[in-house]
Amino acid sequence: MRGTMRALVKTERAPGLTLQEVDIPSVGPHDALVKVAATSICGTDFHIYSWDEWSQGRIKPPMIAGHEFAGEVIEVGDEVKVVAPGDMVSAETHIVCHVCPQCKTGQLHTCINTSIIGVDVDGCFAEYVSIPAENLWINDPDLDPAVASAQEPLGNAVHTALDGPVAAARIAVTGCGPIGLMSIPVLKKCGAQLVIATEVNEYRLNLARELGADIVINPAEEDPVSIALEATDGLGVDGVLEMSGSPQAINQGLKMLRPGGRMSVLGVPPGREVSVDMANDIVFPGVSVRGIAGRKMWETWYQVSGLLAAGLDIEPIITHRLPLEEFEQGMELMASGNSGKVVLIP
Ligand SMILES: [Zn+2]
Ligand SMILES: [Zn+2]
Repeated sequence: MRGTMRALVKTERAPGLTLQEVDIPSVGPHDALVKVAATSICGTDFHIYSWDEWSQGRIKPPMIAGHEFAGEVIEVGDEVKVVAPGDMVSAETHIVCHVCPQCKTGQLHTCINTSIIGVDVDGCFAEYVSIPAENLWINDPDLDPAVASAQEPLGNAVHTALDGPVAAARIAVTGCGPIGLMSIPVLKKCGAQLVIATEVNEYRLNLARELGADIVINPAEEDPVSIALEATDGLGVDGVLEMSGSPQAINQGLKMLRPGGRMSVLGVPPGREVSVDMANDIVFPGVSVRGIAGRKMWETWYQVSGLLAAGLDIEPIITHRLPLEEFEQGMELMASGNSGKVVLIP
């Protein structure tokens, strides 16, 4: 398709994004062109927008930002057989190589040659996005595009939650940003006995309560470790989903874990290095700590779709829907913490 479109472009090595009129992307033989119906703002997008240290080392302008979206396939390349024009789709945002040892052993989510849309290649904060067709996931056409767009971070929440046993388990979620929030109804849907949520922002703490957390704790005001121990007869929780990246929350999470429990870590600590009491909090109690990278391809996507089909409701987490032009307001809402998921509509 020829013509131009509106897109949010990182034009130079500096903070901000620029709304520009650019060419509609070309479609290679294995690609599909998608008309974007909704695109949600992720923490990664905010890093790119604010031009933090990570972005400075990774992003090569000019580049269209954004990676979470839902939309309609408009055009496909000659070799594409898996999707067709008219399909409503979302996308796995990690483009993998299929030839490295990780890919060849079925661990595509940790491909060593991964490139990410909106990070390494042009993204979806635009009216159209061109993407390898194999990365597309066909949606139920009745699914709200905002919810469909949020399936990518929902996949992170599901991957983290289902990294260990959930049914009848007592689980703590440390950090209630959008993905931490999403993990709460996932845990409930999968039969968790008790869900404890910690978060310093009151707006998000209220959302956590609304989404079904049994106990919500503001660690700035109360000690989450003693509350979690008290709620579990002094034993500790079976699992911790670490969603905050806060060194303090990581340590508190380890201390509220029962011996033999698991901590699944999705949060990224800003300073990278975190000091923990390895002997007393990991080795002697025999707990396992695992980093969660992206979504298992494609197991997590089947789980996400299955949970949505079974009635999982993440609608309350989508707190703001704005036109694409109001991206700056969207980024401010993200930064304030007084938001769940912010969705842009091109
Ligand atoms: Zn994301
Ligand atoms: Zn690979």
